[in-house]
Amino acid sequence: MNLDDLVTNGLIPTAAKQSLAPVAARYAVAVSSTIAELIASEGEPLARQFLPSEAELLTLPEERADPIGDNAHSPAEGVVHRHRDRVLFKPVSVCPVYCRFCFRREMLGDATLSTEAMDRAFAYIADHDEIWEVILTGGDPFILSPRRAEEITQRLAAIPHVKIARWHTRVPVVDPPRVTDEFVSALKAKNLTTHVALHANHAGEFGEAARIAIARLVDAGIPMVSQSVLLNGINDNVEALEGLMRTFVENRIKPYYLHHPDLAPGTSHFRVTIAQGQRLMRKLRARLSGIAMPTYVLDIPGGHAKVPLNSDDVVALENGRHRIRDHAGIWHEY
Ligand code: SF4
Repeated sequence: MNLDDLVTNGLIPTAAKQSLAPVAARYAVAVSSTIAELIASEGEPLARQFLPSEAELLTLPEERADPIGDNAHSPAEGVVHRHRDRVLFKPVSVCPVYCRFCFRREMLGDATLSTEAMDRAFAYIADHDEIWEVILTGGDPFILSPRRAEEITQRLAAIPHVKIARWHTRVPVVDPPRVTDEFVSALKAKNLTTHVALHANHAGEFGEAARIAIARLVDAGIPMVSQSVLLNGINDNVEALEGLMRTFVENRIKPYYLHHPDLAPGTSHFRVTIAQGQRLMRKLRARLSGIAMPTYVLDIPGGHAKVPLNSDDVVALENGRHRIRDHAGIWHEY
């Protein structure tokens, strides 16, 4: 759905179309029919994640087109090699929905990698025998056809040192009909263990179709973990986070990461402070068992990787800023 469709479906008022046109010209807009229905039933926590807002036109000086520094670690188009034993592999840069807080929003909207770029990416992975895990991301790689997904799975399975394929996706909640038996089969291969990380930020995203899609993956023997972003006005209270984490576990998904929001352009209205996030994590720990607790992390801007925010790698400064230590022991001010 583009802006016109959002008006036709009653998701934004006709009067807002003109003021939102510059937002849609700058950042991709799409809402799936599943999400349109959930916005109608769940309201603000869903609407705020997917419907464009004029607030996106405000870009702060500290915001960056590449907030987590993918480009600095990209040895081949579509590949990010930040950690020794694993790479990100981005075969596609489109999504069935466009989340308004997305940290890769400046890189989305083009299509899939060309055949030549795909060959170069697989050649890089095959040439680096320290790569144990390949993390499929994008865009959303679950938007691929079963045939394309199977091709990727089989090519990875043919590389002896690659043992794990981890697909990161929002599709099981935002466009569950894509998770067919054929697609699930396409993710599996002999000699390769497949995991799926589901991105969801509010329990209201789990409609009946989403629960069925998730069960199809787990019943096929695919372990699932979660990824969420801590977002102002969506899940920045302990009740919403508790509901989300319980929903993951009830759907056989292990809560994995709760991300501090990244410094993506035009997303300041979604941001919370690290102190707020740390307080929420303390409250969450008092309510949930360990199996339902995520790790609260920050991707240090500039490509210095993730650091847990409830740890002694984070020191609050008097000016409201923080000193954060990366895994190499180097301190960064945030
Ligand atoms: S599905 Fe993922 S990559 Fe796509 S817009 Fe949402 S957060 Fe960004």
